[in-house]
Amino acid sequence: MYLFATFQFLVSFINVQIIINNTEMQNILIVDDRDQNLVALEKVLKRSDLNIIKARSGNDTLAMVLEHDFALVLLDVQMPDMDGYETAKLLRENRETSHIPIIFVTAINKEKRHIFKGYKSGAVDYLFKPIDEEILNSKVSVFLELNRQKKLIEDQATLMLEQAQFDALTKLPNRTLFTDRLNHALGESKRNNHKLAILFLDLDRFKNVNDTLGHDVGDLLLKEAAERLENCVRSSDTVARMGGDEFTIILTCDPTSRSCSIVAKKIINAIYQPFYLNGMECSVSASIGISMSPSDGNNVETLMKNADVAMYQAKSAGRNNYQFYSPSMNVKALERLTLESDLRNALERNDLILHYQPQIDINTRKIIGSEVLVRWNHISRGLVYPNDFIPFAEETGIITQIDYNVIRSACNQNNLWQKMGLPPLSMAVNISAKQFRQKNLVELISTFLNESGISSKCLVLELTESSIMENADIAVTMMKKLKEMHVNLAIDDFGIGYSSLNMLKYLPIDKLKIDRSFVQDVTCNASDAAIVTAIISMAHGLGLKVIAEGVETNEQFEFLRSLNCDVVQGFLFSKPVVADEFRELIVMD
Ligand code: C2E
Ligand code: MG
Ligand code: MG
Repeated sequence: MYLFATFQFLVSFINVQIIINNTEMQNILIVDDRDQNLVALEKVLKRSDLNIIKARSGNDTLAMVLEHDFALVLLDVQMPDMDGYETAKLLRENRETSHIPIIFVTAINKEKRHIFKGYKSGAVDYLFKPIDEEILNSKVSVFLELNRQKKLIEDQATLMLEQAQFDALTKLPNRTLFTDRLNHALGESKRNNHKLAILFLDLDRFKNVNDTLGHDVGDLLLKEAAERLENCVRSSDTVARMGGDEFTIILTCDPTSRSCSIVAKKIINAIYQPFYLNGMECSVSASIGISMSPSDGNNVETLMKNADVAMYQAKSAGRNNYQFYSPSMNVKALERLTLESDLRNALERNDLILHYQPQIDINTRKIIGSEVLVRWNHISRGLVYPNDFIPFAEETGIITQIDYNVIRSACNQNNLWQKMGLPPLSMAVNISAKQFRQKNLVELISTFLNESGISSKCLVLELTESSIMENADIAVTMMKKLKEMHVNLAIDDFGIGYSSLNMLKYLPIDKLKIDRSFVQDVTCNASDAAIVTAIISMAHGLGLKVIAEGVETNEQFEFLRSLNCDVVQGFLFSKPVVADEFRELIVMD
């Protein structure tokens, strides 16, 4: 059925192509030992798309067919040295010439047995002298047409084979061809008792490029990355694209750990160089996992799986690096899988709970709001703190779901407190970088505010410097939309990221939260004191409020008060507490 469909497709394709390729020249070989016969034949062949080539003997013919691609041979039967039968037989026996149709041109031997002999030696037809012009041209036309169709089918088959084996974007071998080559290379390496290595490469944060610069730029980057990869290995090695931003490389020729390291470093360096695409500069990095045969496996599946596991390890180790597979990595991979499904279950079962940490006005010492901090109430591990699962949730993308749940529950909690008689307090939620890139963030926040009925002025979104700076233009647009809704924006952990101070004046933000690490030693470390002093005066200069996080001692508090810091948050006043406890704190305040 499939073959039939393919055939039908080819036939329709041919019909179209015949019209297009009407003018394509085809070669025909006319063979006769007598010049006047050749001239006569040439005269009567009346097609403009014919390139007529002449041969005067059997040997001449054999030489010519190897030199040119012929649609047809018109072969004289009687020739000195080697006659037509012999010549035709030799043409048939040779693999490279056996497909060329041969028509015998003869004046004699019209008897059946001679004709049979001709067919037996490989002729497909006969023409008899004196040549009938019309018959000759009709026959030639038929064979030219057949040859043209055969060529089209061959071309199409080659194209289909290419499409089945190569990646359309990068032109690199695809997964199918890669597997095939790896199987072949494994067989070869086993026979020669040689090693072989697989490099599994994933571009770091490639999704950012696609999301922020668009898929066209993403495609250009992949194409250039493919070229850079090919330049890092020998021509005997295979670079393939598995799909998305994943590439694999087979290193043959008995590689050692050292030579693999050299190649991996070369690749990491090559990918790290900036890409200039459509007039834009962008940067990515690569994480590489390496597995070697026979030590890490001797079949395609195991080697690929282990290289993949090692690649994940490279990602966990901070990206932009390579790791060799080791069996202990499988245990870690298993742990990751369990953690991932545990976390997804936790979301479904509402095992993620919220704690609220008071924020205190430095002058009145009254609670003016809270920061919402998530915890995982784990069935067997007890209360798990965000630092132990947020980074993982960010890596796997579960963070967006977590953040949505947190914002929604926090808004509903705020509404509940207000119904209980509490004033409309401000409530700060943390937004991960990934969350901040979600196109529907503004829409969802508006939904959550409407659902809960609280005023948007109660909500503060805490963003990190890096999530803003990752793509400042898009971030500013997003922030402006949030500001239009009157949602407050704060920069969290200020001072430890790579914020551009110049950028700060363009950001529609309300607050800066000085990172805990500066507050910690603010009373005993002159540099930290200088930094905190500078941040506060700069923020005030820009019309921003300042919150100091991690305030644990009275000395820290007094120092911050002397600098006119606006709000403090820290264990000195309260640890993050559950909703009911927080309500009590307010009531007692
Ligand atoms: P963060 O936003 O900077 O939150 C402040 C962290 O400092 C909290 O840690 C809080 O318990 C801790 N802290 C507050 N006062 C003090 C103090 O006086 N001394 C000390 N040593 N620590 C103090 P926590 O709850 O473990 O959260 C850690 C981080 O996890 C947060 O840092 C935030 O980046 C992230 N996180 C927490 N909840 C969420 C969430 O719902 N979504 C997202 N995306 N991230 C969250
Ligand atoms: Mg925070
Ligand atoms: Mg913070």
